[in-house]
Amino acid sequence: MRALILSDIHGNLEALTAVLEAAGSYDELWNLGDLVGYGGAPNQVIETIHPLAALSVRGNHDRVCGGLTSALGFNPAARAAALWTHKELSPANLAWLNAIPQGPLQPALDGVSCVHGSPLDEDQYILSVRDAWAPLQQMTTAITFFGHTHIQGGFAQNGSEWHEVHPRYRSRKDAESWRLELPPGTRHLINPGSVGQPRDYDWRAAFALYDAEARCVTFRRVPYDLTTSQGRILMAGLPERLAARLREGR
Ligand code: ZN
Repeated sequence: MRALILSDIHGNLEALTAVLEAAGSYDELWNLGDLVGYGGAPNQVIETIHPLAALSVRGNHDRVCGGLTSALGFNPAARAAALWTHKELSPANLAWLNAIPQGPLQPALDGVSCVHGSPLDEDQYILSVRDAWAPLQQMTTAITFFGHTHIQGGFAQNGSEWHEVHPRYRSRKDAESWRLELPPGTRHLINPGSVGQPRDYDWRAAFALYDAEARCVTFRRVPYDLTTSQGRILMAGLPERLAARLREGR
């Protein structure tokens, strides 16, 4: 059983296309939320993911872009993008987006959960061991895949030992992968990173593949057509910062 795990695509069709081309074979696709918001191709991203995803968890941007939650908690750029996305979405795509359930969700595979923010709160950011501590204690499964922070990596616990997981890459240019073993008895919170708006100072689209039999996660980064993606944001009249930050990966 191999799962392709995608999070925080954020309406970036070029990044999603590059990821799907690079992913190779997999049995199931799990979407950890924030399909839309920030990016200029929300309908195309939903129409690509909808038929492929075996599991989808809603994200905070999905909720706001869908009109389920007010945009008042967002910064001005995020709010502008959410309001634009809401108007742009077709009725069918809006209805599908608004029907995506809240996490945690369990795929048809033992010992794994999928969430957007934290297993305890869908909107919580898990950025540090301090943030990860309570979720790692209270998780009902040994492995939880999460997103929301747009930072690839995660946290591991084995008894009283804790550590952060940071994939190590050679460059910020070509496609690369980094493999993490998941030994029995260890609990993991794993973030595949953001497909469409990375914030870990690496502009390349991020994703992960989970191999249940081999007990490992392979973190991946792939370059994509950044110029076209930035052009969509600018042509939509969205804040320039949303285009510029894609190059910076932050
Ligand atoms: Zn996000």
